[in-house]
Amino acid sequence: MHTNRATQSRSLHWKFMSTLAKQTSVVKAVRGTRDLLPPETALWNHVESVARAVFARYGFGEIRTPIFEDTQLFARGVGEETDIVSKEMYTWEDRARAQSEKSQSLTLRPENTAGVVRAYIEHKLGERGDLQKLYYIGPQFRRERPQRGRYRQFWQIGVEVLGPISSGAESPIRDAEVLEMLATLLDELGIKGWRLELNSVGSATDRPRYVAALREALAPVKSRMCEDNQRRAETNPLRVLDSKAPEDQHIINALPKIADFLDDASREHFAAVLAALDACGVAYTVNPRLVRGLDYYTRTTFEFTVPDGSGLGTQNALLGGGRYDGLSEMLGGPKAPGIGFAIGEDRLILILEEQATGTGEPVAAQKLDAYIAPMGIERNAAALALARELRRAGLSVEVGDGTFRLKKSFEAADKVARHIIILGEDELATHTATVKTFATGEQVKIAQTELQSLLR
Ligand code: AMP
Repeated sequence: MHTNRATQSRSLHWKFMSTLAKQTSVVKAVRGTRDLLPPETALWNHVESVARAVFARYGFGEIRTPIFEDTQLFARGVGEETDIVSKEMYTWEDRARAQSEKSQSLTLRPENTAGVVRAYIEHKLGERGDLQKLYYIGPQFRRERPQRGRYRQFWQIGVEVLGPISSGAESPIRDAEVLEMLATLLDELGIKGWRLELNSVGSATDRPRYVAALREALAPVKSRMCEDNQRRAETNPLRVLDSKAPEDQHIINALPKIADFLDDASREHFAAVLAALDACGVAYTVNPRLVRGLDYYTRTTFEFTVPDGSGLGTQNALLGGGRYDGLSEMLGGPKAPGIGFAIGEDRLILILEEQATGTGEPVAAQKLDAYIAPMGIERNAAALALARELRRAGLSVEVGDGTFRLKKSFEAADKVARHIIILGEDELATHTATVKTFATGEQVKIAQTELQSLLR
C-alpha cells in the first residue's frame, strides 16, 4: 500500500514537471476580458460610490444576484430570437455531482434584469404591495467581437423599479424619475455632452401589429438589404431598425414608424413621460427608430449616447433601458410592470479618462500623505509603529525599508507621497522626525506629536 502510494505520487510529480516544461508560454487573460489595475481602479471605485450615493437619494437599495443562472431564465426572459441568446451566451451543461442532483444547463448572465425579476418573483417582493427600487453593480458576459468599449466580460450599473399595479409601477412618473435620476448621475460624474434619446415601442398588443406591418413593408425590399438585415427581416424585424449599415439607411428610413401603431393608452403614457421630463428641464430627443435589442421591452425605451470622439470609438451607447411590463409574467410570476436601465461601466470609465487626460490614458494615482524612511534596519520596527499610528489617525502612509540608501528613499518617496519622514537614530532618541514637503522643498525637524497636523 505504502509503496504503491509512493510510486503513484512520484509518477504524478513527473507528469506535472513534464507538463510544466512543455508549457513555457505565458498564460494570458482570455480574449475580451481585462484586468483592472490601480490607479485605474480608483476611478472605478469613484464612479461606483457616486452611483451608490445618487441611488440612495432616490430611495434605491442594492440587490446582488448570482453570476450564473438557469439558461431558461435568459431564453425566456431576454428572448430566443435576440443576438444575445442566439449567439452570445456562455452556456454549459453543469454535471450532477451527486445522485440527488440533475445535470443542468447554466449560463453566465449576459444582463441583470432577468435575474432581478427572477429574484423579485422568488422572494415574493411584490406581496407587501409597495414599489421595489433596486440597483446592482456587477460583471455581465457576452461572446461579442471585442473592440474598444466592447468586451466579453463587462460591468453594468443598473436599476430596476417594479411592483404590483397598485404600487404605481406602471405610472409614467416612474419613467421620468428614472430618466431624471440618470441625468443627475451623469452630471455628477462630470460626463459632458450626453444625449437622451427615447421612444415608445408600445404595449404587448401594439407591438405585434407593428411587427406585422414591418414584415409586410420589408418583404418587397429585403433582398436589396445587407445579409444581416435580410436575416433580421426574417427572425426579428424590429432589429432592422437598429441597423447602422449605411447602404440600407434609405430603405429603413422609409419603413413604417411605431408611433403610428400605438394605442391611446400607450400614446398618453408616452406623452406624460415627455411632459414630466419637460417639467424637470431634462433635454431629450424622440428617436422613432429606437427599439433596442431585447424582447422584453414595452412602451418607453431609451438610450443615452455621447458624441463621437468621447473615447468610445464606434460604441457611442453609454447606457440603455426601458419598460418591461410583461417580463414578470413571461417568467411565471405575478403581474409586475417595471422600468430599468443598465449603464456600461467600462464605457463610462473610458469617457471619464478621455475627458480627464485627452488621450484616454488612465488618470494618475493620488499621492499618499507620507512615506516613512527608516535609516538602517534597526529603525524598521519603529517606522512600522509610527505608520500604524498615522494610518489609524486616517492618514495614508507608505513605509520604506532600512536597507535603502537615503537617495533611494527620496526617489521612492517622491514618486508616491507628498512628504518624506526620515527616522534616524537621532530622531528616535528625541521622539522627533525630519519631514520634507516635496511641493515646497521645505525640510523641518519636529516632534512626532506634531506630525499629524503637519501632514494634513
Ligand atoms: P444592453 O444590456 O444591451 O441594453 O446594454 C446596456 C449598456 O451596457 C450598453 O449601452 C453598453 O454601454 C453596455 N454594454 C453592452 N454590451 C457591452 C459589451 N460587450 N462591452 C461593454 N459594454 C457593453
